[in-house]
Order: sequence, then structure tokens, then C-alpha cells
Amino acid sequence: MEKLCLGIDLGGTGVKIAIVDKKGNIVEHSSFPTACPADPKKIAETIAANCRKLKHFKKIRSIGIGVAGDIDQEKGIVRFSPNLGWKNVPLRDMLSKKLRKHINIDNDANVAALGAFWLDSKGKAKNLLCVTLGTGVGGGIVINGEIYRGSTGSAGEIGHVTIEPNGPRCNCGNHGCIERYVGAPYLSNYGREAVRKGNGKIIAKLAKGNIDNITPALLAEAARKGDKEAKEIWNKAGERLGILFADLINLCNPEMIVLSGGVSCSADLMMKSMNKTIFSRAYQTPARACRIIVSHYTHKLGVVGAALLAK
Ligand SMILES: [Zn+2]
Repeated sequence: MEKLCLGIDLGGTGVKIAIVDKKGNIVEHSSFPTACPADPKKIAETIAANCRKLKHFKKIRSIGIGVAGDIDQEKGIVRFSPNLGWKNVPLRDMLSKKLRKHINIDNDANVAALGAFWLDSKGKAKNLLCVTLGTGVGGGIVINGEIYRGSTGSAGEIGHVTIEPNGPRCNCGNHGCIERYVGAPYLSNYGREAVRKGNGKIIAKLAKGNIDNITPALLAEAARKGDKEAKEIWNKAGERLGILFADLINLCNPEMIVLSGGVSCSADLMMKSMNKTIFSRAYQTPARACRIIVSHYTHKLGVVGAALLAK
């Protein structure tokens, strides 16, 4: 890879830009918020202006960009991004006209998986899955050290794997997707339900009488303080992720599953039930071979992975 590459992480709430060295260290960075719906022209202009301001920009030959949404990697088009409110935006060409550099574009979860491959596994785990646990559940698949994109670039939609055939309807239209159970808003809802039923005393206390204050972080704090209901919410989430991971382990035989995103901070509360479920469901050899870790680099996986995509 070139000495310095530029990575851009374009999400629904903000843009992160960073110049990254060969070892994955961020040399220089900037960020700004995005409005939703975001005007593609304005976003491209602001990104270009912020890139040009970077001291080392002149040394950059190629740029990688990760975007939340359905991406046509070959044509460089954002086919659909609900978070940005975009349909068929030719982002790569818009940016390369302004910046006059070679640009690669991909889905943000794929780019995060590249980041995890590079930073968390130091390029060693050739077969790796990266699962982002946040508002939604994102996924990226690295096979033989490269992103696996499938035939239309849509592979890795791990959040929309069914774990309950008759489960609640998901935003994607399917029923019982894993995201519908362990996505941050749904975890918070389980906490609200418990409080409404008069249970979860510590949850209620931490929420200071307003159930709208309940978040996964608050539920984690309650569980650590001994709240039975909160512990059960995390146990159940671990069990459901365990069902998903058992399938993924049987399907892909990865060396590593890297968890990232806000909810992954509470992975320790889910590990016991997750592992128990994995070992009761998956083939034993691949289950034993797979390490499940929490990324040490959650906040920069996207932008560093994008820089790696630039090469
Ligand atoms: Zn879904």
C-alpha cells in the first residue's frame, strides 16, 4: 500500500475523514455532521473542501470511502441509502471530479470489516466476520483476506438473518431478523417493558422516572449493579446472537468474529449465554476455532478501513 491513504466514513449523522499511514495509524483527521436528508452536491463539496484542507492531502494518490447503504462498488454509485435519503447518487465520480484522485467506494459495514481485519487481527485472520451492533446490526465478511461482496455487492447483511420465523416485523420487511431483537432501540424497549410491568427497579431508578432515558448503556449499568431484569435482557440478547453466530460459524468457518459499535461495549454481559448457545448449536471444530472479540478500535474502524479500501 502507498505510504499514506485517505479514508472517508460517510454515515447518516456525520462524516469522518482521515489520512492513515501503512500501519493503520491516523496521521491527520477531520469530521463534520450531516443533515438528513443530505443534499449529495453539498455533501460532496463539503467533503472535498475538508480533504483539501488536510496538510498531507497533496501526498495522497488514492481515496477510499465507506457509505451507509446499498452500494454499486463497480460503478461507484450509492444505489440506496435510507440514512442519507439518497437514491442512485454517482458519488465516486462526483468526488473524483472535484479531488482528481483515484477513488474506491463501498458499503460502510464492508469497510469496517476491512478495518477489523487490519487493526484487530493485524491482517492475520484471513477469514473474519465483523458485526456492528448499534442502532442496527451491520455485517462484513472477509474471506481469504478480501471483502466478500456476492454477485450484486449485497453480501454481509447479517442484521437481516432470520432467527425467529414468526417474529416481529423488521424495517426491511422480513420477520424476526436479529436486528429486530438486538438493535439498540429494541433492547431499550425491553427495558421499558420491564419498568412498565413494575420490574427492573434499578433500571427505573437510573432512568430517573422517565423511561425515555432507557438506553443499552443504562441497561448495562443496571445489569452491573445487579438488576435481574437487565441481566436477563443481556442474557437473551447473547442467546439470540449465539443462534446467529452458530449459523455463521457453520456457514463461513471464520477464525474470528469481531464485534464493534456502541452495543458491543456491553458484550461481556452477553458472552456467557452467547458461547453456551454457539457450542450447543454449531459444529464443534469450527466453533472452537472461532474467537469472538470486541474491537479495540470501534470509533475508527470505518475511517481506517476506508483508507485501506483506497489501495
Ligand atoms: Zn430485517
